[in-house]
Amino acid sequence: MIASVLIQYSVKSLNKVFDYLIPDNLKDSIKVGNKVIVPFGSSKVEGFVLNIHNNLDESLDYREVIEIQESDFYLNDELLKLGKYMSNSLLCNLISCYQVMLPKALKASLKTNINRKYETKVYLNKEIDIDKYIEEHKRNKKEIEILNILKEKECLKKEFGSSINRLIEKNIVLSETYEINREVQSDEDTRNIRLTSMQESAIKEILNSKDSKYLLYGVTGSGKTEVYIELLKNVLKENKTGIVLVPEISLTPQIVARFKGVFGDKIAVFHSSLSEGEKYDEYRRIMNNEVSFVVGARSAIFAPLKNIGLIIIDECQSSTYKQESTPKYNSIDIAFKRGEYHNSKVVLGSATPLLEQYARAKKGVFHLIKLGNRISGRFPSFEIVDMNKESKKHNYIISEKLDLEISGSLSRKEQVILLLNRRGYSTFLSCSNCGYVYKCPNCDISLIYHKSSNSYSCHYCGYRVTSSSICPKCHENAIKDLGLGTEKLESILEKKYNTKVLRMDADTTSTKNAHRKLINEFSSGKYSILVGTQMISKGLNFENVSLVGIINPDASLSIPDFRSSERTYELLSQTAGRVGRFDLPGKVIIQTYNPNNYVYQNVIKNDFDSFFNYEMNIRHKLMYPPYFYICSILISSSSFEQASKESIKIKDYLDKKLDSSYIVLGPSVSSIVKLNNKYRFNIMIKYKDDTKLLCVLKELNDMNVKDVNIDINMNI
Ligand code: ADP
Ligand code: ZN
Repeated sequence: MIASVLIQYSVKSLNKVFDYLIPDNLKDSIKVGNKVIVPFGSSKVEGFVLNIHNNLDESLDYREVIEIQESDFYLNDELLKLGKYMSNSLLCNLISCYQVMLPKALKASLKTNINRKYETKVYLNKEIDIDKYIEEHKRNKKEIEILNILKEKECLKKEFGSSINRLIEKNIVLSETYEINREVQSDEDTRNIRLTSMQESAIKEILNSKDSKYLLYGVTGSGKTEVYIELLKNVLKENKTGIVLVPEISLTPQIVARFKGVFGDKIAVFHSSLSEGEKYDEYRRIMNNEVSFVVGARSAIFAPLKNIGLIIIDECQSSTYKQESTPKYNSIDIAFKRGEYHNSKVVLGSATPLLEQYARAKKGVFHLIKLGNRISGRFPSFEIVDMNKESKKHNYIISEKLDLEISGSLSRKEQVILLLNRRGYSTFLSCSNCGYVYKCPNCDISLIYHKSSNSYSCHYCGYRVTSSSICPKCHENAIKDLGLGTEKLESILEKKYNTKVLRMDADTTSTKNAHRKLINEFSSGKYSILVGTQMISKGLNFENVSLVGIINPDASLSIPDFRSSERTYELLSQTAGRVGRFDLPGKVIIQTYNPNNYVYQNVIKNDFDSFFNYEMNIRHKLMYPPYFYICSILISSSSFEQASKESIKIKDYLDKKLDSSYIVLGPSVSSIVKLNNKYRFNIMIKYKDDTKLLCVLKELNDMNVKDVNIDINMNI
């Protein structure tokens, strides 16, 4: 027997299939769709079995399949076809599409660590005067860096590699090894909820309609989750299965708790923070038909469920549904494709759908269902504070108005949420003597000061140096940290209000289950103020929050991206959605230097339609989505000249090959010119139909240019 195996042996090479002999010991277990290891040249490579046949060519000298990576896991016919569709429409190699569909580690490569259920936590030895130790060991930078991190929080040992071992040996740092619970941890919310008539009618409308695509457009707090749950109960009745996508599981523990509370272990949950072993376990439950529903982020759309009756995509505006690395798929497109295959309904849900989604719903491409009222019946009241006036009074961070409201909330023992979408302490480091600005040596980006780890770090490539107030250029003691990040805001608030402040950003939530822990802590009332980046804008439900302050929304508005207005509208209205969900009336304060901007003006009126019309007009004039699709081509190289030269060549090539219905713009330098030591240029193509374009780009993709990387991103 012969297996035709799709293998990958270089990054660029597309779709190479070779025949291998199946050895006797694998004959009974091998299946089409299995991931296998085969010899190639002098090495072993991974591959997928695309066909099994008996057409042996006696004149050929076949090599043998080496092993199957978990024969019970295989891509079924639907997923194999889906991969081909992805590969064609995204211009990426087929094997990358198949790789993304299966859990990364299958048993063969997991053998060594599938039973690994232990983790080691490290923390400071409280009996040692750490500051004294640091003072005495100043020269040992690595140690100091670790100790400074540990001064802030307990950490997992693996975060420090081997460099922590010496500190453990010296008893400065203590360690504790404990078993990790392989059972996916999540809370359960088992309330009995009576649906409102608005929810009832939305559910009926979806169940009674023959349409396949829906947009459930419901303001924040309108009870969309309960609508999803009723729809899923119905799916269960019909003995079918369902997928629920959420932007990021760790950010939405309360939704997951609700699903768990209703459906128990009929649900498999896919977290980004699951260990490979846990993912493997959940995957096996699906393969064995033990679950009816899968809840998860982006890649859960590939769950190998059979007989799918419903796919739900919550917060469908979220950019997390599009993968940024190859294959650059959008799980919403995949959902439609799978929906077609299974003849199932696909429901998108959002309070702030993307313009193109709302436009499609208005045109009838999606069946539009509205939930116009909040369950609580309350909308927060809004106020815009003009920071131009405040800065004259030297209030740069907290305006008089916000100060007044925070004090009021705190005195009533209510809680406050403040959004600041920049993590770190300061956001900019510059020498007040010579003007030097600390920049990342690998990226064209200024470094950010992190007080907790006492370091300057690059948020793009992870570069990190120990902080110092001495300017590396003029050697004066004059480095000033400018700009405001969440860490600085946290410490300002703690001093100003003499209260406990909880900070939630990528830095405080990097360890397993940290999100859940922080959310539960805030919920329990241990803290009165929560400061956070955009990760606090979604899915949180706190009864005692009466005030939301938005500290610097202008930063988000000025990001050079055609979606920045839309994203800012979403960020603000989602964050505002955190108050007034229960009995307390809510207040939202927006601090801005552009008080008249249409984004803010419409957010405060809660007028998405008016924002939509305004923004559509701009998109129309500038020929952006939804009027045109956009393909972005990124040309990068470690040589600036080469990247630039190649970009011009590509532009000429596209101009020659594409007719005037395509608009080719660029090349221009990217908004971040240098990233990870690569110089970057962009070409943008606006198009309405991709048939011709895909052919042209395929040719472009196949051209191998030495030392230059060409990265195509369709339909951004
Ligand atoms: P959305 O996703 O639309 O923002 P949620 O589904 O999170 O809203 O619902 C907001 C809050 O209202 C949640 O605490 C939810 O449990 C509650 N809720 C939803 N439906 C009802 C109902 N019919 N009766 C009482 N409370 C409800
Ligand atoms: Zn960098």
